[in-house]
Amino acid sequence: MILPMERHIARVLIHRDAIARRVCELADQIADDFGRHGDEAGVAPPLPARPDITIVPILTGSIVFLADLIRQLPLMARLRFLTIESYPGKSTTSRGPIIDGELPADLAGASVLIVDDVLDSGRTLQLAQQKILERQPAQMRTCVMLRKDVPTAAKPAVDYIGFDIPDEFVVGYGLDYDGYYRNLPDVVTLRSEVFA
Ligand code: 5GP
Ligand code: MG
Repeated sequence: MILPMERHIARVLIHRDAIARRVCELADQIADDFGRHGDEAGVAPPLPARPDITIVPILTGSIVFLADLIRQLPLMARLRFLTIESYPGKSTTSRGPIIDGELPADLAGASVLIVDDVLDSGRTLQLAQQKILERQPAQMRTCVMLRKDVPTAAKPAVDYIGFDIPDEFVVGYGLDYDGYYRNLPDVVTLRSEVFA
């Protein structure tokens, strides 16, 4: 028998409807900032040299957010994935970020948007930003779905934040515990028995 997940939920922190609304707002803001032009005066401006953005999602937690966000984004966009792990297996505290595999090679001169799930200690995004900057993009902005209310030493610049949440371990909407719960549509906390 396959177990349903709902009985493991302690509290729904952010409902799917609120997420959907916020994703639209973020996409609008991102499109404006990366230079959505054209319709204002009814004339199309000349195309810039690189009329596209390169989205760098941090795997794996960002996948659901990414899928929703890119479908609201009316920009020419390509995806270049970056895997950074800091919560292996059953851990609910960070062991420090490690890049798994190669950094995308073709970021020089690109307009980069980094997309991640949660900003916690900030070390994951700090590492990602550092590595991407070494590739000399034309511009780099960062978007996270959630920001935890924690005092942090690492303070990566973050341009877009979906929601501020308390310092609790959350799952759902792409976020996992031990590989599970990514497919929950809401952002939730889990009952303590789950961790026992
Ligand atoms: P940081 O490096 O900022 O401490 O942690 C960021 C990464 O840790 C996120 O990309 C995410 O993968 C993971 N993370 C941080 N907080 C949580 C959480 O509450 N739940 C889950 N599932 N992952 C988290
Ligand atoms: Mg992550």
